[in-house]
Amino acid sequence: LAKERGKNNYQFYSSDLNGLSTRKMELENGLRRAIEQDEMMIYYQPQVDLSTGELVGVEALLRWKHPQYGMISPLEFIPLAEETGLIVPLGKWVMRTACMQNKIWQDSGFPAIPVAVNISVRQMEDEYFVDSVTEVLQETGLDPQYLELEITESIVQNIEKSTLILRLLRLIGVKLSIDDFGTGYSSLSILKHLPIDKIKIDKSFVDDIIYHSNQGAMVKTIIDMGLNLNFKVIAEGIEKKEQVNFLIDNACQIGQGYYYSPPLSVEFMEAYLAQGVSGYSSEL
Ligand code: C2E
Ligand code: MG
Ligand code: MG
Ligand code: MG
Repeated sequence: LAKERGKNNYQFYSSDLNGLSTRKMELENGLRRAIEQDEMMIYYQPQVDLSTGELVGVEALLRWKHPQYGMISPLEFIPLAEETGLIVPLGKWVMRTACMQNKIWQDSGFPAIPVAVNISVRQMEDEYFVDSVTEVLQETGLDPQYLELEITESIVQNIEKSTLILRLLRLIGVKLSIDDFGTGYSSLSILKHLPIDKIKIDKSFVDDIIYHSNQGAMVKTIIDMGLNLNFKVIAEGIEKKEQVNFLIDNACQIGQGYYYSPPLSVEFMEAYLAQGVSGYSSEL
């Protein structure tokens, strides 16, 4: 017992030296109960037609309101959920909640638009992933065409298995998009063989349009190639009017970013849906 206590004391002491690892441990433990305790919530970020400003979709973005630490970014806790495997139940909760919410909006008379849900590779590797998508759609009654799954280029690391899963998802009728396109090691020539509907140009390239010397050369190339392969192309992280102009001039039709709206709580998203405008840019 003494030995065990000694060991625990040591761990406590060592993690105390490094506040970060204490936080990491607490978050990992908290993650297990966060769903039951109602600490997880989803914000929705509008996706708009760049020429008309019309709302064409929303992306579901997970938020964790931690009892001690307050709002925690998914950039911090999603990797922990992936490490521990908790991403599987957590990801299913996100998918179910987002589909349920979308169905509620459609049933209350708002124009039907797809909700995009981020999917980790770790989730796609789970043998029950395709079943869980079917189950969520049945449970919520959402028409599959209004669920879009955002996956990343890392799926190409296991291209044969991924292709099979993507084909099954296609059969179910959901839409598929490649998130953060351009940041991974895939190329459009690999992606052209996959049953994908859309690519999302990563924010770093959209930033290039105004902040760097190549003046959007990459963005231009990605749009051209994407459209040639019959993908829809959406630009992420749009913050400035100049970016919108450049994107429209180069035939990119859809965009998402703070310029239009930050991710919104359900309440603010409903105000947006009702008025077609946001004006809540303080709420990031
Ligand atoms: P992502 O899927 O690429 O989502 C876009 C991120 O960019 C979001 O960050 C969004 O708030 C942010 N963003 C949107 N417009 C702008 C802009 O104009 N400027 C700037 N600076 N940022 C903008 P967020 O919500 O913090 O999410 C970060 C990442 O966490 C997401 O990147 C996604 O990879 C991951 N994530 C979020 N929710 C989930 C989830 O439910 N499941 C999984 N597996 N991953 C998630
Ligand atoms: Mg995304
Ligand atoms: Mg992205
Ligand atoms: Mg990302």
